Amino acid sequence: MKDLSQLEKLKPFAQDRSFTEKFMLVKRVNKERLAKMVTKSCCVDFDPDMIFDVQVKRIHEYKRQLLNVLHVIHLYIRILQGETHGMHPRCVLIGGKAAPGYHTAKLIIKLVNNVAAVVNRDPRVRNWLRVAFFPDYRVTAMEVICPGTDLSEQISTAGKEASGTGNMKFMMSGAVTIGTLDGANIEIRDAVGADNYFLFGMDASEVELARVNYDPNYVIAHDERLMQVMHLLESGHFNLFEAGLFKPIVDAIRSATDPWMTAADFHSYVEAQQRVSETFQDTSRWSRISVLNTASSGFFSSDRTIAEYRDQIWMKNKK
Ligand SMILES: *Cc1c(COP(=O)(O)O)cnc(C)c1O
Repeated sequence: MKDLSQLEKLKPFAQDRSFTEKFMLVKRVNKERLAKMVTKSCCVDFDPDMIFDVQVKRIHEYKRQLLNVLHVIHLYIRILQGETHGMHPRCVLIGGKAAPGYHTAKLIIKLVNNVAAVVNRDPRVRNWLRVAFFPDYRVTAMEVICPGTDLSEQISTAGKEASGTGNMKFMMSGAVTIGTLDGANIEIRDAVGADNYFLFGMDASEVELARVNYDPNYVIAHDERLMQVMHLLESGHFNLFEAGLFKPIVDAIRSATDPWMTAADFHSYVEAQQRVSETFQDTSRWSRISVLNTASSGFFSSDRTIAEYRDQIWMKNKK
């Protein structure tokens, strides 16, 4: 309890079937507890047999909750078209507060709620996809959300997140990360191993290079899946009685000066999400990855951080 580095000793148990089965049983109980909280707070029924795909953090454009929503819309389209091969059913939870004056952040919350309303009321989609926006996201809620999560969404534009701490909390609780090479995601991937992390998107230097001649409309026109998503969004399908509501969001994605380059990472994100679905269906592989995440998380202890700071910064002139 006082020395997180000892979590390393769990690593060999990732190969031990009787251990991983008990570990995943704990995850199952935590998913059931989270499902109850989502029913109470969001009036959406989450099914613990489905992947619990979670993005909770302050709402900010650089954190790209929007990229997550685009993927949800993509899944919705695929399900309606009957293209569910390789797909595993998902419950997507997005939660977070927006700063009071941050208009775009509030509009993103509105979009999540509107997409959720359309998806959840469609009986053709019910067995494949459920979406909820979690209101009043706070530490007390994270205590339940984090242990009940299968997939941790850490999808900020590379170069923008200083570190992140949500990413570490999820890792410690056996969630598997889908993420960019940004902030502490880089160290998380190093610690757990590239095979046990779902990497996608441009790294920070690629982002800066791609900015120079960024043409999101070209990207959209040459990506069938993104084109379908944008057309559905632009058709007003998610704002039938609220004409033009999401125009600022659509315009931001289509802008050559979009600082977050959402369109640029869409293709790679969808491919990584497909790998997540396929991996989740291999229960023993997913369990192994989950255990390895917990076992590799000791490095992210604040005690380790502070001890290193004491030795390398404060004591550097006094050996
Ligand atoms: C961990 C946590 C955060 C920080 O999340 P990031 O993903 O690192 O931005 C914010 N709010 C709450 C309530 C948290 O528990």
